[in-house]
Amino acid sequence: MLDRFNRNINYLRISVTDRCNLRCRYCMPEDGIKLIKHDEILSFDEITSFTREAVSMGITKVRITGGEPLVRKNIAELVSMLAEIRGITDLSMTTNGVRLAEYADDLAKAGLMRVNVSLDTLDPDKFSYITRGGEINDTLAGIEAAQKAGLTPVKINCVIKNTPGEDDARMVAEYCMKKGLEVRFIREMDLVGGSFSIVHGGSGGNCARCNRLRLTPEGTLKPCLFSDIGYNVRKHGATEALRLALENKPECGTINSKNGFYNIGG
Ligand code: SAM
Repeated sequence: MLDRFNRNINYLRISVTDRCNLRCRYCMPEDGIKLIKHDEILSFDEITSFTREAVSMGITKVRITGGEPLVRKNIAELVSMLAEIRGITDLSMTTNGVRLAEYADDLAKAGLMRVNVSLDTLDPDKFSYITRGGEINDTLAGIEAAQKAGLTPVKINCVIKNTPGEDDARMVAEYCMKKGLEVRFIREMDLVGGSFSIVHGGSGGNCARCNRLRLTPEGTLKPCLFSDIGYNVRKHGATEALRLALENKPECGTINSKNGFYNIGG
């Protein structure tokens, strides 16, 4: 699928819920969020049939994200439904890892290929501060379980304030080296302020090479993280929503005033 700027769009990120079991300071507003009603959230059948259409048009990489995807009930069932779609060569998930020790084996059996786990520090108190109450050992156990289950390469998403040289980032990098994990440093972004930058060690944040579409939990297909443009797949149908998203994918991101990272998946 080529867009107007000749970018090959082959990557779909599906946010399966706006709910999360952490409250990261850079992601969720302190006073919480207005949750989407359950009946507005796409069912597994809707997600799968949309994805099947997207794959038939050229998507080959699919990532399940959130909110926190592991708080969506029966998530391994969605993984197995997506894994059956022929043409997906990379099926992954981004998670905070809190429930990964519990789910890693089931996810791997269902056909998930690999995971990215978010980890911004190795200091338990700081972890608890950043996530507003998270327990670092849950995430570390999740990372280990993912490796054991073969959800590899396990990549670590580490949000930084400024540079990968700052203390927490260096400690995370050392930990990753010791444990055989890949690390990506993501500079803290501001959707409304329109500030974003290239991900160190990853492919995000580079508009000229952007290959992504995003599906929100309630079915809005968004061609750009830093834009308010979106087409609801229930309203337009999958094919038309895909056509519109492709045709209107901006050359470069500006601002997103309608979504937060917690419902669009980062
Ligand atoms: N709950 C899952 C997790 O924690 O990985 C998946 C959703 S989370 C929104 C996806 C990614 O977005 C995480 O790696 C998170 O660190 C990142 N993220 C959230 N808010 C961000 C911000 N303001 N700037 C940069 N990255 C952000």
